[in-house]
Amino acid sequence: MVRVVGFLSILASATLAVIVVGGGSAGSIIASRLSVNSHVSVLVIEGGPSHENEVDLTIPYIYPRTFHSRFDWNFTTVPQPNLNNRTPIYPRGHVLGGSSSINGMTLNRAPASDWDKIATHTGDRSFRWENMLKYIKKNEGFNRPPNTLEYANSYDPSVHGFNADKI
Ligand SMILES: Cc1cc2nc3c(=O)[nH]c(=O)nc-3n(C[C@H](O)[C@H](O)[C@H](O)COP(=O)(O)OP(=O)(O)OC[C@H]3O[C@@H](n4cnc5c(N)ncnc54)[C@H](O)[C@@H]3O)c2cc1C
Repeated sequence: MVRVVGFLSILASATLAVIVVGGGSAGSIIASRLSVNSHVSVLVIEGGPSHENEVDLTIPYIYPRTFHSRFDWNFTTVPQPNLNNRTPIYPRGHVLGGSSSINGMTLNRAPASDWDKIATHTGDRSFRWENMLKYIKKNEGFNRPPNTLEYANSYDPSVHGFNADKI
């Protein structure tokens, strides 16, 4: 579990202190993984506010409401010649959880054949589907559909994780 600490004095007593700058998708996972070791103290420094109790950050596909808000860095692109030099918005999360806190909440994961190709191209077998699946499951809090005929055989439980949101 990630504990975001606010006082550097807590770090002083730790065996090993790691500072993660940016509490977004990658930073939060790194902090979470490191903090599994009780001898490691992790400080996450996030530029934006907390995501807690923010309803707009919890509803799938309502994310345009977060654009131009305090949860968005409010970037724009450089002028686009093919768009009559307009400067479209370029949303990036400015909040704990990062862009994952302002995203559409679509879960995409590559098929087994893609993971196996990555393993082949990199020469690193740890990217093979059979090795990645346990991490994919660990990251997932799948909500089972109702046990009715309508949803019968609609998902394969062997490739889903069910407990990520309970960690
Ligand atoms: C609008 C939108 C919709 C999306 N929809 C989906 C979707 O439906 N499904 C999907 O899978 N992906 C989606 N994505 C993509 C996904 O959210 C991103 O790929 C992912 O969040 C990137 O993770 P990251 O850790 O690289 O960066 P981020 O999650 O953006 O994390 C970076 C963090 O660093 C912080 N930070 C930056 N600079 C500093 C600093 N100097 N000091 C302290 N903190 C700093 C930021 O505030 C932020 O919290 C979407 C992205 C956007 C923007």
